Amino acid sequence: MKTPDYPLVIIGAGAAGLGASVKAAELGIPHLVLEASHRTGGRGLTEFLENGVPVDLGCHWMHCARQNPFVPLAEQLEFEYERSNPVHQAFVNGAWGEGATAAARNAYLESVETAACNAYHSGKRVSIWDCMEQESPHCGWASYWLSLMHSNDPDQVSVSDMAEFDDTHEDWPLRQGYGALISANGEKCPVRLNTPVVEINWRSDQVRIVLSDSEIATNKVLVTVSTGVLGAGDIKFTPVLPVWKQRAIQDLPLGNYNNLFFPLTPGALLDAPGAIGYAKDDVFAAIRVRPFGDDYVFVTIAGRFAWWLEKQGENAASQWFEDVLAEIFGDSVRKELGRFRASAWGFDPWIKGAYSSTVPGSVEPRKVLARPVDQKLFFAGEATSLREFNTAHGAWKSGQDAVQAL
Ligand SMILES: Cc1cc2nc3c(=O)[nH]c(=O)nc-3n(C[C@H](O)[C@H](O)[C@H](O)COP(=O)(O)OP(=O)(O)OC[C@H]3O[C@@H](n4cnc5c(N)ncnc54)[C@H](O)[C@@H]3O)c2cc1C
Repeated sequence: MKTPDYPLVIIGAGAAGLGASVKAAELGIPHLVLEASHRTGGRGLTEFLENGVPVDLGCHWMHCARQNPFVPLAEQLEFEYERSNPVHQAFVNGAWGEGATAAARNAYLESVETAACNAYHSGKRVSIWDCMEQESPHCGWASYWLSLMHSNDPDQVSVSDMAEFDDTHEDWPLRQGYGALISANGEKCPVRLNTPVVEINWRSDQVRIVLSDSEIATNKVLVTVSTGVLGAGDIKFTPVLPVWKQRAIQDLPLGNYNNLFFPLTPGALLDAPGAIGYAKDDVFAAIRVRPFGDDYVFVTIAGRFAWWLEKQGENAASQWFEDVLAEIFGDSVRKELGRFRASAWGFDPWIKGAYSSTVPGSVEPRKVLARPVDQKLFFAGEATSLREFNTAHGAWKSGQDAVQAL
């Protein structure tokens, strides 16, 4: 048998892969990170609007701030962040809502959380939707909010994801971008870009990683790609993965979530509320105006609506957002908007969605997904985190923990 090229190969340079690589370096483990795309960061991606303002197309808020390792890393690198969760001023069917609307929406959401946790602790694995008072006037807004948390709609998500998530309710946005922060922390990692892994052959003692033009031999491989990529079979496993592992992948499908942006002419919308909870008939959206005082506006959409709008294409998405802003601020706002920019995670070939959620009826798929196969194949990534799934810090920690364990 030939000597392995590396004792450890990490597949994917998102938060989990970079976290794993940093830990491997700390432990003195020689390794290589293989990344399919032209950049690091995965679902962390910061780009610039035409006016030079950095925006996050992927993750943006440092959730669970008190236990989030990116908070001290942001301090070290002097990234500016906000320590607040804004109240969204309601704009419902063409009119500003009463001050009480936001409080009532929050109270309803809390009641859903309590019902979901009760169901979970009594052994039920029903959907979150099953725990919602569906006649309530706040049901639509709450469904939208839950779709942001899970990226699937509440009827597609098990109560376990609501009950098990360790939420400290601190969501701190980064001015220079979370994607930029993640990539900066992986700057020294040995990443080979533009290198999609085609096959992982784990038949013999050594694992062979097959690329389009060559092979790499290793003792252990840490797979951090999304469950969207795994579920699509984009990486061939030889022999195929055990049925229990395939089942866990199927039980953690990705939903969708996109951020849509317009740069603003300098000083526009200065007097607007900073956060708006928009609702029109069955469409809901959270809009942020001039975050950090910068000249831009953005909206987040998720679940089935995000899949639908992404399929319509960028022009349709731009028109939809422009019309929403004109409905709120009047037609004159149209001339304050610069070149539209939006993420499109559903059709990103290396991700295939936003983040994972547990299908109703499934029992502990995250634990099963995280379990190694044959002490050669190891798994990390947001979907494997037991209490901090769907997040960048959960992904980072999952990579670090996997390397520590192996
Ligand atoms: C729109 C959006 C908003 C979000 N908002 C937040 C937020 O505010 N806060 C938060 O904490 N989290 C948020 N998240 C979730 C967070 O971004 C993810 O949980 C986290 O970044 C996932 O990291 P990961 O390393 O597990 O996976 P990924 O980032 O998907 O990394 C996997 C890597 O594997 C690569 N890859 C795929 N196939 C192959 C292959 N065949 N060979 C080699 N490499 C391959 C991919 O290119 C990718 O770089 C958001 C996500 C989205 C999409």
